[in-house]
This record gives sequence, C-alpha cells and structure tokens, in this order.
Amino acid sequence: MSIISRLAADKNLSDSELKALLETNEYDDELCETADIIRRTWYGADVYIRGLIEFTNYCKNDCFYCGIRRSNKNAERYRLSRGEILSRCAEGYGLGFRTFVLQGGEDPYYTDERVCRIVSEIRRKYPDCAITLSIGEKPRESYKAYFDAGADRYLLRHETADNAHYSRLHPSGMSLENRKRCLFDLKDIGYQVGSGFMVGSPYQTTENLISDLRFLKELGPHMIGIGPYITHKDTPFKDKKSGSLELTLRLISILRLMFPTALIPATTALGTIHPLGREMGLKAGANVVMPNLSPVSVRKKYELYENKICTGEEAAECRGCLERRVISAGYKIVVDRGDNVEIRD
Ligand code: SAM
Repeated sequence: MSIISRLAADKNLSDSELKALLETNEYDDELCETADIIRRTWYGADVYIRGLIEFTNYCKNDCFYCGIRRSNKNAERYRLSRGEILSRCAEGYGLGFRTFVLQGGEDPYYTDERVCRIVSEIRRKYPDCAITLSIGEKPRESYKAYFDAGADRYLLRHETADNAHYSRLHPSGMSLENRKRCLFDLKDIGYQVGSGFMVGSPYQTTENLISDLRFLKELGPHMIGIGPYITHKDTPFKDKKSGSLELTLRLISILRLMFPTALIPATTALGTIHPLGREMGLKAGANVVMPNLSPVSVRKKYELYENKICTGEEAAECRGCLERRVISAGYKIVVDRGDNVEIRD
C-alpha cells in the first residue's frame, strides 16, 4: 500500500513518513488527486460560503506575527456597532450566506453581555443560519453563555502545537496550554470547532507541523483553517519570510486525507500570496470560502498581514468574484449552512 493510500485509510504514519510527505514535492500530484476524490466522496462539488464580518480590530494581545497586535500604533482602530453588524448580516442573507462569522481581536469592549446580545439578535432574525464566533481565548463560562445565546461554531487556531515554538510566536502571558484548554472547552460545550495554524510561521520546523497534525487528531475538529503566514511591516517579525504556496497546498491535501469530512477553507491569505491561490486550495481539497462581508470602509484596517486581498469591493462583488473563481476550479457554491456531514440530521 502506498504511503498516500495508508494516510487516506487512516493508518498511523510514522514521523519519518510524514516528514517525507511534507518535505518533498514527490507526492504532490497524487496527494492532490486523492484529496479531491475524498472531498467529492463526502461533499461532491459543493463549496460552502461563510460571510466574514471583521467587527473589531482592537486587541489586548500582542502576538508577534499579527498586524492588529496591541503594540502596533500604526493600526487605525475601529469597532462595528450592533446595528452595523446586523445590517451586514441582512446584506449577507440576501446574497445567499447561511453562515455568519463574527471575527475580531480580543477586544474587552465586547463584554459577554454585548456579545450575547449581538448573537441572540442574529439568532432570532436568522434562525436558519449558523453563527460562528472567532474572538479568541475566553473563560469556559463565556463560551457557554455565547452558546446559550445561539452561537453554534467557534474558530480558534491553535497556531502551533509545540510549546517552545508557541513561546517564540507569542509574548509571555499567552500559553499553548490555555489555547488547548479553550479548544477542549468549546468542544465539550457542544460547538462545532475549528482549529488550525499558519504555514511557514517564523521558526516553524517540519517537526512542528507533525505535532500540529497529531494535535488536530487528538482534538478532532469539525473545521480546519490553515493559511500561509504573511509578514506585516509593523510587527517584530517584519524581516521574516512569508510561508509558501506549495507547502500550504500540500498540507491542505494531507489534512483532507487525514480528516475526510473536515470543512477546510481556501483562505484569503492563500489568495493573497498567489492570484489563483484559493482556486488551487479548492483543487487540493478545500471546500469552504470566506468572502468578506465587513463594510468596505473598515476592510483595510483589519490588516493582519500586508497586501490582503478583497479590501476594496462591496460584498456583492466579492460574492460574484468568488462564484466565478469556484466555478473555474470545477466546483459550485451552494446556499447552505454547510455543516460538517457527520453532524447533519
Ligand atoms: N483574535 C481571534 C483569535 O485569536 O483567534 C481571531 C482573530 S486572529 C487575527 C485570526 C487569525 O489570523 C489567527 O488565528 C492567525 O492564525 C491569523 N493571522 C494573524 N496574523 C497573521 C499573519 N501575519 N499571516 C497570516 N495569518 C495571520
């Protein structure tokens, strides 16, 4: 049995086998073809869209890689009001979005009470939609309160599953242990959970990536988001190299083989490092795209990394552009919540 068939058959590959898959391009064609067969077995040609609302770029954290880190005095900060968020949902619903993703920095202005109020209003107005939160590390009680208010999914990348690497990417005070605690709490509460990591983040080794894959197996997430790390000039990593397209695509295929039913986005970061990055991501096994639903007036301000794409167009244009891209890659966008097949009724 080939190494790829064994990976697809959920056999436990050794570290040296995973290393061989990750470090050479020898298996890339077979990986990509097998990943596409598996995604079509579970999801056909369907691609799910998530309306991404970046509602605040204030952040109390100071992650070394991130453009909206607290210490970046050049970031022009903004917050969306509840009314603005709801009006983005209204526009998104009309465009066929059945998932809204509320993402932001860790902004203390949005107390649990405020978050719950926003979530419950969206839940009341759009009972047929999924509400995804991506607002960082919180105590378990906060996660539970958002869940009870109507949130059903949560995205929190673990960033790296290696302690030493984690501490090279984050200031002291942040820990991998707490990140993991959050992820397991979220799962335990009943959320559909998404985790993931940046590809090519500074100091990342192949061994770190193997730990990431093994950690994801332990967590069993419903969604896995990966994208290349991209440098931002106003961070301590301004002189570091960005991650590569090839390795990101290779990892998307590996993830599809290891997690056949996972929802895997072809991310904006992938589209930023190559004009056809998202199309290639879909062909490599991704089945989700996340068009931007934030008001155009704030888009450029949510600058996690430089040259981020899709910051100038209205939501309808973004939706139309992605529709064409998805079709050109051989798939189709569907109007659907896009839950993981394993938890559908
Ligand atoms: N605060 C929330 C959190 O920590 O999950 C959500 C917002 S955070 C900015 C979303 C994701 O952006 C992070 O999980 C990280 O992987 C990604 N990100 C941040 N800086 C990046 C960069 N320079 N290049 C690529 N991705 C980046």
